[in-house]
This record gives sequence, structure tokens and C-alpha cells, in this order.
Amino acid sequence: VDIKQALTALHTKIKAIPHKGSRASYIPELSHVDPNKFGVFLAHLDGNGCGVGDYQEPFSIQSIAKVLSTTLAYKLGGESIWSRVGVEPSGTAFNSLLQLESDLGIPRNPFINSGAMVICDILISTLENPKEDFLAFVKTISNNKSLKYSTHIAESEKDVGFRNIALCNLIKSFDNLDNSPEEVLDFYFNLCSLEMTCEEAARLFLYLANDGLALDQKTQILTLSQSKRINALMQTCGFYDESGEFSFKVGLPGKSGVGGGILAILPEKFAILVWSPRLNDKGNSYKGMLFLEEFTTLTEQSIF
Ligand code: GLN
Repeated sequence: VDIKQALTALHTKIKAIPHKGSRASYIPELSHVDPNKFGVFLAHLDGNGCGVGDYQEPFSIQSIAKVLSTTLAYKLGGESIWSRVGVEPSGTAFNSLLQLESDLGIPRNPFINSGAMVICDILISTLENPKEDFLAFVKTISNNKSLKYSTHIAESEKDVGFRNIALCNLIKSFDNLDNSPEEVLDFYFNLCSLEMTCEEAARLFLYLANDGLALDQKTQILTLSQSKRINALMQTCGFYDESGEFSFKVGLPGKSGVGGGILAILPEKFAILVWSPRLNDKGNSYKGMLFLEEFTTLTEQSIF
């Protein structure tokens, strides 16, 4: 099957399917996004790529950015970071408080909100100017100097982020934060506010299809083993309490965000980014999941 034809045919087919779900309106700024947007970009390791629909329009990558924060913390802190955050699927919602209490403040994995906050705390303690240095890191691996945080999305989420504030304070009460909850939340909301297009994001995450090596084929962003492990975490934990379902239907490591984006990786081959803002009740893009399920079925490209 020709990849470009498959992308185009599936985009047309799935765009026409009746919508289900709704935008992440709990973040006020995200409820202004046109819910009918639908873009896909597939970036190959050889530098070629192929896009359909709204793939050149920037969107809020939200939790997909947790892959980037985990990458940098892992790169800088090595295996020691896993004493502060686990590597098990949570089986609970991305913003659940329940497990954190019984697990004594050690989040199950770095891709749920609590885990991402602990990773933010590690980065704040490690970097001299956390927000600036993190953004500089993302710019380096993306080779895209224009990337920036969306201050209005970060502020909009901060204003109503009562549950995230509760999570962060709960972690602090268990002594699993070195910095203040205010600093950690500020970094966390900015991390989630990163905006990019499907094409920029697919190209940016190609290092995970490339054994940790940057696109220039010279810079080692992660070691081979670390890159394998980030993929393993995406496979088991990338979709919160729908991680099993994504693995079952799509068969690729991936990560979703409440902006409606889904990243998926086929190691040694490609990174693909699908964006459609309406979410199912687990907070994952309804059409994004459907698209990737049909894509891996049609092209027979999955890790299994
Ligand atoms: N910023 C969002 C939140 O903290 C990220 C959640 C997500 O994308 N799943 O609620």
C-alpha cells in the first residue's frame, strides 16, 4: 500500500464519520479551537514526509510534551529518576488523585499529570533557567528556532487548574518534590502549552524512531537503551486508562494530549502525528485513535 494514498484515503474517510466527543473545555483557551480541524503528518527517517488536511496549523500539544520533559530528565538524571516516578501503567485517568495517596506520592509513570510534575521538579533542580533551558533543548532537537510556549494557554489553565494544584500539593506532602508546588506548576503548565504543527511535531519526535539519534544523525539525544525505554513507556502508559486499548487497536508506542494530538512511533521507520480536537471520555482524540487504528491495519505497519 502506498503511504501517501493511504493517508489521503483515510483522512477523507474518517473526516466524513460523524463526530463523537468534545474539546477539552476545562482549559478555557482550548474550547476556542475549531473542533473540525483534522491534520496528519507522517515523517520518515529518511527525511521524507507526507501531510494531509490541517497539518501545517499549530495546535496545543499538551501532554505530548511530557515525552520531551521525560526525555530531558532521563538524559540528565539517568536511571536515578525512576526512584521518584514509576514505570507502570496507572489504569486511572490522567489527572486522578486516587492512586497517588496509596502509592505514597510516587506517581505510577511520567505521562500522567502527577508523574509529569515530578519530572518538572527534577528539571527545575537540574537546569539553571528551567523554562528557557528546556525550550532551548526542544529547539535544538527540532531544529526549529521559532518554537515557543503559549502564555495565554498556560495562564488560562493555571486559573482553573484546581485539580492539578491538588495533585502537586499532595506530592509535596509526601516529600517527593524538592521545589515549591508553585514553581513546579508554573513549569508544568508552560510545558503543556507548547504549540506546534503536525509536521513540526512528527519531525521533532523522529529521534524516538531513530534509536535516540537526532535528525542530523550525529547528536545522541538519548542512548539506544533510553530511547527503547521511552518507547516502552509510551506503549504501556501513553493513553492513561486507554493505553491497553490503543496498543490493542493501533499497535504502536504513542502519546496523546488533550489538545487532540496523538503521536505514534514505528521504530526504525517513522513518526506520525494526528490532530483532531474532539476527545473521547478518556481524554484521547476520538478521530485520532480511529485514524491510527485504520492506518496500521491498512498499511500493516505496526510493531507486532
Ligand atoms: N495540561 C493538561 C492537564 O494538566 C494536560 C493533560 C493532557 O493532555 N492529558 O490537565
